[in-house]
Amino acid sequence: MTTILNADLHCHSVVSDGTLTPEALAQRAKANGVELWALTDHDEIGGQQRAAAAAKALGMKYLTGTEISVTFVGHTVHIVGLGFDADNPALVEGLRQTRGGREQRAMEMSDGLSKVGIKGAYEGALKFVGNPELISRTHFARFLVESGVCKETNEVFRKFLTEGKPGFVAHRWASLKDAVTWITQAGGVAVIAHPARYKFTANEEFALFTEFKAHGGQGVEVVTGSHSVAEYQIYADAAREYGLAASRGSDFHSPDESHTELGTLPYLPGQLTPVWELLASRIQ
Ligand code: AMP
Ligand code: MN
Ligand code: MN
Ligand code: MN
Repeated sequence: MTTILNADLHCHSVVSDGTLTPEALAQRAKANGVELWALTDHDEIGGQQRAAAAAKALGMKYLTGTEISVTFVGHTVHIVGLGFDADNPALVEGLRQTRGGREQRAMEMSDGLSKVGIKGAYEGALKFVGNPELISRTHFARFLVESGVCKETNEVFRKFLTEGKPGFVAHRWASLKDAVTWITQAGGVAVIAHPARYKFTANEEFALFTEFKAHGGQGVEVVTGSHSVAEYQIYADAAREYGLAASRGSDFHSPDESHTELGTLPYLPGQLTPVWELLASRIQ
């Protein structure tokens, strides 16, 4: 299969930290010319049936998706899963466990923010939450923008929600091995999401890619809304070096916040195996 396909295999709905419903995302993807789509909510597959049904009604091909939060060498890494069986019991249970600590973490984040004078952040963030199990930093960021503390969500992350800042709470997510295994034993393909975002040293990045492969991971995002044009090339080379298939996805969250629209990124560079080639039999 060709790399020249308008595939968008990474985005978020109200089921995690996006602001649109799965149906509205499907319509937006279709309107932007997306030919193959996946909804990849964080740690959650509750939107999959709606997304697949909406894609079918619009005549758009669909792959199941999720984006699993992983802790690797003390850092948070995201692993996208594509084309799995959404009823697979081990995957469903693994995701349930991964979602588990978010409420407690959110209350601790709120305590941290109250120490710098920002009161009621937990309740404030909850107003933006579509799925209480998935309360995330994004929902706190939206509350801090709404209440006038910051102008935009990026500024909230920089000042309050990243390591060393008052609203940051370290959290232990799934292990790399578990996340990759849940996806692959459910018939899917595991993909390293937006690798340039982690700011790893060369050694750490080598460890991530080699351990990911050893656990059965098969793909890496090359063209994503989180990468610069130079980074497309760097990770296209990495995909070839490590023998990984390449993925493409906007990571769209919201019309008001996302700088990358669904389906508008450049095509994957040639001479790469696209993940949709590995997933041909899983496309709905
Ligand atoms: P969480 O899973 O609660 O740690 O939240 C992570 C989410 O926060 C990511 O999936 C992004 O949607 C969002 N995020 C992380 N960093 C930033 C940033 N610098 N600006 C805007 N959103 C961000
Ligand atoms: Mn997100
Ligand atoms: Mn991510
Ligand atoms: Mn994402």
